[in-house]
Amino acid sequence: MTFIKMPDYSIYIENNGLNNLFKYIEEIYPYKDVFVVTDQTVFKLYHQRLLDVLPDYRISFVIVSDGEKSKSIEVYQYVIEQLIEQGMKRTHLLISLGGGVVGDLAGFVSATLYRGVSYIQIPTTLLAQVDSSIGGKVAIDLKEGKNLIGAFYNPKLVLIDPVFLRTLSKREYANGLAEMIKAGLIGDKKLYHFLLENEEVGEHEIAMAIHVKREVVLTDPYDHKERMYLNFGHTFGHAIEKKHGYELYKHGEAISYGMLIALEIGVHMNETKPELYDEVKDQLIKRGLVKEPLLLLENYKDEILTDKKNLADGLRFIIVPKVGEVKIVKVKASDLT
Ligand code: NAD
Ligand code: MG
Repeated sequence: MTFIKMPDYSIYIENNGLNNLFKYIEEIYPYKDVFVVTDQTVFKLYHQRLLDVLPDYRISFVIVSDGEKSKSIEVYQYVIEQLIEQGMKRTHLLISLGGGVVGDLAGFVSATLYRGVSYIQIPTTLLAQVDSSIGGKVAIDLKEGKNLIGAFYNPKLVLIDPVFLRTLSKREYANGLAEMIKAGLIGDKKLYHFLLENEEVGEHEIAMAIHVKREVVLTDPYDHKERMYLNFGHTFGHAIEKKHGYELYKHGEAISYGMLIALEIGVHMNETKPELYDEVKDQLIKRGLVKEPLLLLENYKDEILTDKKNLADGLRFIIVPKVGEVKIVKVKASDLT
């Protein structure tokens, strides 16, 4: 078991940790009613497990459809109404069981229902285990854009059980690996090299990736500087997602192309060695995260220039001169072609 302390909650990473869920719950919660928000796929795969590991609890489930469309106002309202109907009170505990969609949605429900109820995150995708369940950001989408309504609201604990990853599709697994490769590149050489040489990740590597995010989150808990370094590969990544409506490319795939662009910019500036670019490219191709021909920056110029996050006086690109080192550079709009 690996334990990571955040300022006001704990992260436990443990193979088969789900079996010990009752112990974790007992530490933070005196009652026997729990309310679980999950999606259809995760419900089908794991609801019996949950009933088995919490025999002494009364468990109510609220199930939403899989996918980003569940991060909507309508589904948010549905979840809240279901929880109230099933008898959830202000003192009760909510459990978010699922990937980043369920985590963001259930987290936002927790932040707002009765002005805030306690919740725990049990992330079941690799992306949720290394990224979305960490850092306290919860949100839903509007048709105008992703994550436009949200809050900073920390869970009481995060329980990460790598055994969940066994049922993930290859594509979903790779989606999480992309954020891990990013974490390695910006902040952990050992993690980066592990991922070059190994197919699968476990407790230890998940912990390494979380540590990279933790460091940034602790220096910028309310995201005033957009948790800058974590956005390596994301300027171009967001442009790809925007242009293709968040459907064609998964987030991990979009940021994989973005990391390559950022490395290429580093090479052009004589900051990054071309060998690093080649090594990362091979790795991303091997994982099925990018395909050749690679997407070109110039085809996404409009999306980049209309992104509110990009500054009027130029684009900030995070480049990686060496594995584990980051540097912020400004690129003029005219440099994009
Ligand atoms: P997801 O939640 O949609 O999960 C992907 C698919 O995997 C779903 O169909 C789900 O049912 C299925 N699934 C989940 N666990 C499974 C398991 N163990 N076995 C088999 N199938 C399983 O997608 P995601 O990639 O986990 O999360 C994406 C979301 O995370 C986006 O909405 C994004 O905005 C958000 N996000 C939030 C933060 C944050 O800081 N809050 C950070 C990054 C991403
Ligand atoms: Mg990301």
